Amino acid sequence: MGYKKKNMEILADIWNQTEDKSMICPECGGKLILVQVEPIQDAENAYIPYDTVIECSNCNFNIKAESFTILGSVKTFDVGHVEIGSWSPSGSRVLSKYEHILDYETLKHLRESGELVEFLVADNQVIEVIG
Ligand SMILES: [Zn+2]
Repeated sequence: MGYKKKNMEILADIWNQTEDKSMICPECGGKLILVQVEPIQDAENAYIPYDTVIECSNCNFNIKAESFTILGSVKTFDVGHVEIGSWSPSGSRVLSKYEHILDYETLKHLRESGELVEFLVADNQVIEVIG
C-alpha cells in the first residue's frame, strides 16, 4: 500500500509540473510515454481498467498505474474534482466523480458546450481529455 501511495504522489508531481500537462521524466527530463498493457478483469467496473506503465523514452524510469477512458460530458467541476456524465454498459445514465488535474478553461468550455469527449483516468485522477 505504501508503495502504491508513493507512485501516486510521483504521478501527481509529473502531471502538475508542466504548463501544458505534458509528461516529463522526473529523473532525466525526457518525454514520458503512457502504455496500456492489459485489461484488468473486473466485472463490477463499468469501464475496463488497464494495467498501465508510464515509462521514459530516454532512461529506465517507469511507474505502474491503473488507467481507463470514459466517454462522457462534464456536468460540474471545481478546483479538485470533476463530475462526468456517461452511460453504463446497459445504457443507463451514470454520474462519476473524480479528482482531476485539468485546467479551468478546458473544463468550463466542456461544461458549457456539453461536448462528448473521452477522459483518460489514471489512478482515479482525470489526467487528460482526448479528442
Ligand atoms: Zn528519464
